[in-house]
Amino acid sequence: MSPQPIPVPEPDWNAIGDAFREARRFLITTHVNPDGDGLGAELGLWAYLKSRGKDVRIVNPDPLPPRYAFLEELGHYESYTPAEHEAVIADRDIVVVLDISKWERLDGLGERLSRSDARTVCIDHHPFEANGMADLYAVDLKAAATGQLVYEMIRAWNHEVDPVMATGFYVSILTDTGSFRFSNSDARAHRVAAELISLGLDPNDLYEKVYGNSSLARIRLLGEALSTLRVELEGNVILLVLSREMMDRHGALASDTEGFVDIARTVQGSEGVGLLMERADGKIKTSLRSKGRISVNRIATRFGGGGHELASGATLEGPLDEAIGSLLAAFADEIARHGTRPAG
Ligand code: 5GP
Ligand code: MN
Repeated sequence: MSPQPIPVPEPDWNAIGDAFREARRFLITTHVNPDGDGLGAELGLWAYLKSRGKDVRIVNPDPLPPRYAFLEELGHYESYTPAEHEAVIADRDIVVVLDISKWERLDGLGERLSRSDARTVCIDHHPFEANGMADLYAVDLKAAATGQLVYEMIRAWNHEVDPVMATGFYVSILTDTGSFRFSNSDARAHRVAAELISLGLDPNDLYEKVYGNSSLARIRLLGEALSTLRVELEGNVILLVLSREMMDRHGALASDTEGFVDIARTVQGSEGVGLLMERADGKIKTSLRSKGRISVNRIATRFGGGGHELASGATLEGPLDEAIGSLLAAFADEIARHGTRPAG
């Protein structure tokens, strides 16, 4: 018997609105290795709460990746250190967790926040786990981006969206839809994007800031990664493998690899793609993508990770060769569940 699906709590904007109205001091956060969606949603919510006169801090487990440095001109992002943030955390009324619904994905900050007396509100679009993290949830798996949900929340409250909020929400949707290319690029996402553009933001300017601003290290590393990509499991799986030595030789940061896996995903005939990157601590960060038939979320979950059905990630133990072997075995199992493709 297959497990019963966990009911997903429908967004109740009224309940969240009441909680926000009563509270004064907010902390906003998003997952480790923050992406454009989490960071954009944070900026939009931060600007909204400021406009309501709230005391609000964005505190993340990780620093802002260099490619998102332009967001720092609009909002203020802090990276958690116990010494600096203990007093801040202790006096918060509300913690808003964006783009994830489990404390583990916030590392040490999550551990600290899980012991806080503040009410926790979670706004997310990832598959839901009933783990009791939050007091109030707004989870919508059909939302293209968490930033889109935060936008819809603010509009549901009939509040104006200003240019800073609009920038955050647009960056969320732009990045989580892969520039309006992925299967989540639905009418709703385009409609919200159109509303944001009609407020006066410049889509080309934001595209250039996010995607037209690569470090040379990123492009050189991409060249090497593509020229050494591995075709595995009879062409069903493409792997991009980034050893520590490659990363260091190019002077590349983990955030420089964002989007590599989506390029590899365009190779015809494969079912799925995996990127493996050896981190400085010897662990192996993987990013997984499916072309539509297989669930990479199921694969990532086997390694303690997660994500969406078609885009997931996990961190594996090293060494690299063993991680490659385990990942391929998991891909093979997942492909077998769906049967092989007809030849040709
Ligand atoms: P990416 O491969 O772009 O880093 O992430 C793809 C999706 O998987 C995103 O929704 C991201 O939040 C999620 N994801 C990536 N790594 C992990 C992980 O280690 N654990 C969990 N739970 N989700 C992850
Ligand atoms: Mn997201």
